[in-house]
Amino acid sequence: MKAQPIASHFIDGEYVEDEDGAVIESLYPATGEVIARLHAATPAIIEKAIAAAKRAQPAWAAMSPTARGRILKRAAEIMRERNRELSELETLDTGKPIQETIVADPTSGADSFEFFGGVIAAGMNGSYIPLGSDFAYTKRVPLGVCVGIGAWNYPQQIACWKGAPALAAGNAMVFKPSENTPLGALKIAEILHEAGLPKGLYNVIQGDRNTGPLLVNHPDVAKVSLTGSVPTGRKVAAAAAGSLKHVTMELGGKSPLIVFEDADLESAIGGAMLGNFYSTGQVCSNGTRVFVQRKIKDQFLSRLKERTEKIIIGDPMDEATQLGPMVSFDQRQKVLSYIDKGKAEGATLITGGGIPNHVTSNNGSGEGYYVQPTVFADVTDDMVIAREEIFGPVMCVLDFDDEAEVIARANATEFGLSAGVFTADLSRGHRVVDQLEAGTLWINTYNLCPVEIPFGGSKQSGFGRENSLAALEHYSELKTVYVGMGKVEAPY
Ligand code: NAD
Repeated sequence: MKAQPIASHFIDGEYVEDEDGAVIESLYPATGEVIARLHAATPAIIEKAIAAAKRAQPAWAAMSPTARGRILKRAAEIMRERNRELSELETLDTGKPIQETIVADPTSGADSFEFFGGVIAAGMNGSYIPLGSDFAYTKRVPLGVCVGIGAWNYPQQIACWKGAPALAAGNAMVFKPSENTPLGALKIAEILHEAGLPKGLYNVIQGDRNTGPLLVNHPDVAKVSLTGSVPTGRKVAAAAAGSLKHVTMELGGKSPLIVFEDADLESAIGGAMLGNFYSTGQVCSNGTRVFVQRKIKDQFLSRLKERTEKIIIGDPMDEATQLGPMVSFDQRQKVLSYIDKGKAEGATLITGGGIPNHVTSNNGSGEGYYVQPTVFADVTDDMVIAREEIFGPVMCVLDFDDEAEVIARANATEFGLSAGVFTADLSRGHRVVDQLEAGTLWINTYNLCPVEIPFGGSKQSGFGRENSLAALEHYSELKTVYVGMGKVEAPY
């Protein structure tokens, strides 16, 4: 299986190669097979990309928002027309089952281009401020060259969630995907240009943790939007602070999902499973601390076990497969080591707990980076598996007795990305989410992030928001103009 792109980078409207850059091997997680060989960006490539973006941005910003929006909406149409091809590429890049990528990855990227392409004509309006005989007005103006740095769990979605609002607002973008998933963003760049995007406005360069800082420290970059882990976020925010760049940080989490005894049990279990096993657990907003009210604990666990053991693990390209491999060998080892910690700490293993032995991937090698969907019960707040982000299909179930107690325990974490509550009592639902410290919260559902709603974290999970009109604020700034209507009266 091969997915070799034309070249490693897409700059100024075309594919560009520079073989001096370190080799990045793209492995298909289901088999470990090398499917593409690319090169990390050299400093010369970075200069080329940022110079192209800088050159192209003023004319783009000068276009009418409707004209900019029309191109983004066309890109959304092309993405939908090519959904299967893009979904297969996303599956090769990440190992996520085609059953998921076909409904969740390119389609959510397309939603983003469609939404921002549509709202932009009205989304960048300023205000008029009466000041007696004088007045002032504000304008929303683009920032200039924006850098996007992606994680590996939703490569195409992240490339679009950053690209769409940035471009809609009149900026240019240089995007660096994760070194684990270098392929999808190049296709997004291709499609944008096919849709009519002028060259230089959306550039993709490859690289890893050594490449990222070259972008973040570049003096011609106005903003950096990172999706990644908290330690990376701290480094990128510190580097960006050196030159006072705008930053958006979409970081990790250890989110609470609270199930009260009056909840619809099957929905709560379904929510908890989606919020732990979708994308093989590699979702930042996952509700990995599932607090279950003691009275329904046994019932909850027995149905959860039953449903979890029916999950179909296997070849991601098979439409029946519900759970694919982890993205990489290293990530699989990290998850397995957390599972070992959970066992050693005395949590009760309900199901899973290792590598599935019946998986043979589509080349029959059996080399994929698979982990069983795993549920631990009797997890206590002090256990490592309840405190640290695992980023794999490992659910921790904790017991609780009353509302005040569970709110305090849910909030006792440095993270604040998401939270969820399942209850039949709607006033309790609202009362509880009101007190939970998180940026994105759900009542009686979990992990739904349509483009219409703001998405992002609080506390150590980050700041800034993606999606919705809120994202436009993070890709633009206000310009205020005071207009004097009379003579200037100076005291001297
Ligand atoms: P990571 O932090 O290792 O890497 C993220 C990106 O940052 C990669 O492209 C990497 O090359 C780059 N990078 C690493 N060091 C850098 C540096 N010093 N300067 C600039 N760039 C640097 O994260 P990952 O392992 O790719 O992804 C998993 C993490 O991402 C998890 O913690 C997950 O919760 C988080 N995540 C958050 C969201 C969100 O929206 N909040 C979404 C998806 C993933």
